[in-house]
Amino acid sequence: MPQTKKDLKDFSLDELNSRLKSLRVEPYRAKQVFEWMYQKGAKNFGEMTDLPLPLRHILSDKFRVLTSEIIKRQISKLDGTRKYLFRLDDNEAVEAVLIPAKGRQTVCLSSQVGCAYGCKFCASGLLGIKRDLRCGEILEQALGISRDIKGARITNVVMMGTGEPLANYDNVMKAISVMNSPYGFGIGARKITVSTAGYIPGIKRFMDEKAQIELSVSLHGATDETRSYLMPINKKYTLSELMKVCREYVREKDRIITFEYVLIKGVNASREDATALSKLLKGLPGKVNLIPFNPVSSFNFMPPSGKEVKEFQDILKNHDVNSTIRAQRGADIDAACGQLRLRETI
Ligand code: SAH
Repeated sequence: MPQTKKDLKDFSLDELNSRLKSLRVEPYRAKQVFEWMYQKGAKNFGEMTDLPLPLRHILSDKFRVLTSEIIKRQISKLDGTRKYLFRLDDNEAVEAVLIPAKGRQTVCLSSQVGCAYGCKFCASGLLGIKRDLRCGEILEQALGISRDIKGARITNVVMMGTGEPLANYDNVMKAISVMNSPYGFGIGARKITVSTAGYIPGIKRFMDEKAQIELSVSLHGATDETRSYLMPINKKYTLSELMKVCREYVREKDRIITFEYVLIKGVNASREDATALSKLLKGLPGKVNLIPFNPVSSFNFMPPSGKEVKEFQDILKNHDVNSTIRAQRGADIDAACGQLRLRETI
């Protein structure tokens, strides 16, 4: 009955340690198994050649190692960005993106199948949410990509694919602990970013995390009116509550927050919007990542012109608010921010 066996990638190192202990296996074996799965890319127990045979039998009796199938892979001709569609074992599918840059390989991972939040500019929420991803399914996106690029090292992770990572908190944080672990992917916490649409209960939990994981908050509006129009979540978790929690976060943790702001012509990209945003963020240690809207076929929005983007940025600068303009990557294969979907053709 293979379906009753638990996927080994659903265990954190601590959890695997205690599970193996209960099976009377020496505790250091958990680290070895981790290294096999996450560093040497073993796809089954047979490949874990330095584990004694009886141990491999115990493992294959109790667990399975699920590997993902890449059902579609697109490579951008513009910049080498790669978008992957993975099949999950219940026949759902999920997208992830590899963004290569000089000295860096960043993966953008999904946390849920679909998204519950229905932001007006984002393709990921078009069909609502199906379910959370398991920890192993999140890790498999990174492993699948790593196999596809022949084991080249993944250096950065952004939880900015489909879904709201902080609404699937336990699975996402466990997957991050594995990516961060020296026996797992060994990626430094500061190279891992969690992005939230402003799910306040999740941000409050995140505040207690010991690891120095980066936090991004998707803002997109500097008033409740604009933000609620673009992001229905703002009706429940309002801008003033959100900013209160963000200020508490930077104070308590002594860390900065990156605020993401998609610029949409005629909606949130005017000079007045820039001034309102500057006032909202005044004195808050952080920076703004301006993202000119990426076209999504179901929406009529347009990005502002390059000149307008620059003017918006200048106004922020005049108010001492740091910002960067996010370079668009993978646009020819719909792999840019906001273009990942729930239902791709399988
Ligand atoms: N739910 C989380 C994680 C997804 S991050 C969050 O909202 O933060 C996805 C990022 O892409 C967000 O900053 C989002 O606002 C941005 N985005 C979504 N649609 C976009 C579009 N059409 N053009 C540019 N950026 C977009």
